[in-house]
Amino acid sequence: MQIIVSGAAGFIGSHFCDYLLARGHVVVALDNFLTGSAANIGHLASHPHFHFIEQDITKPFSVEGPADCVVNMASPASPKDYLDHPIETLEVGSIGTQHMLELAREKAARFLLTSTSECYGDPLEHPQTETYWGNVNPIGPRSCYDESKRFAEAITMAYHRRHGLRTNIVRIFNTYGPRMKLDDGRVVPAFLDQALRGEPLTVYGNGSQTRSFCYVSDLVEGIYRLMLSGERYPVNIGNPCEMTILEFARHIQRLTGMRSKIVYQPLPEDDPKQRRPDISKARSLLGWEPAVPLDEGLKPTIEYFQSLQVSA
Ligand code: UDP
Repeated sequence: MQIIVSGAAGFIGSHFCDYLLARGHVVVALDNFLTGSAANIGHLASHPHFHFIEQDITKPFSVEGPADCVVNMASPASPKDYLDHPIETLEVGSIGTQHMLELAREKAARFLLTSTSECYGDPLEHPQTETYWGNVNPIGPRSCYDESKRFAEAITMAYHRRHGLRTNIVRIFNTYGPRMKLDDGRVVPAFLDQALRGEPLTVYGNGSQTRSFCYVSDLVEGIYRLMLSGERYPVNIGNPCEMTILEFARHIQRLTGMRSKIVYQPLPEDDPKQRRPDISKARSLLGWEPAVPLDEGLKPTIEYFQSLQVSA
């Protein structure tokens, strides 16, 4: 297949491109490097099936040639990145998503949107099933991301209903692995960077908030299976193995063998108190479930961050 991927130089986008190329597909990759990095796709530069176009998808653009699938992965995705770029985040989820939907229509291609567990906001239902409508503050600091993705889901469903476009929506839960940005503020790179430097681990609030961490290879496998499915409604992809952030900090201390202390800092506004995907739908529909346990996924992640620190 020929597959157009936006956000291809991002953490998840670049792993998804690797996955597609390994299966023999041709990839046309788009990114404007707002938060993505050329280094994430540097190894693909001479790949015969990989074609990169530097493109901001919120601006009008066209892509030559046929396409079987259009995959919209472009967006700032860490709280720090979307708080630094709130308007760009809203634009890419709305205008950018519509441009990618139009591209899929023009090519008569199927369309996949990467959405997020942030659609559930600070969830009042636990674990989160796809039928839960969420608890989102529409004007809080995180709203630029949450509402942008909720709009992206809404317009994707509208294109499906109005134009009969074949669409998929994946709701991605916390994912980690090599190629995360060391300074993107998310808890996995933050704690690993701090631990490897022997600096204190910064736990926000009292650390009782929970998250469930999925290794990136499991995520891209789930996204690929969804892309080949006929499912039109959102599907959660994530690892249901839930822990508190304090437990995660202690785990990182043990795993790295570093004697970093834990320091407590204020909890960011609207920080979700709990998050765990219900993956029953992905299990039954896609035959998918995560295969990589936390420690196994953290090993290559730690090696990656060590290599960044050495080269810094
Ligand atoms: N967090 C933390 N210390 C940090 C970075 C994050 O305690 O240095 C917490 C954050 O408040 C949240 C959780 O870790 O409760 C996950 O944060 P992240 O930014 O990775 O992703 P989120 O799930 O909030 O989008």
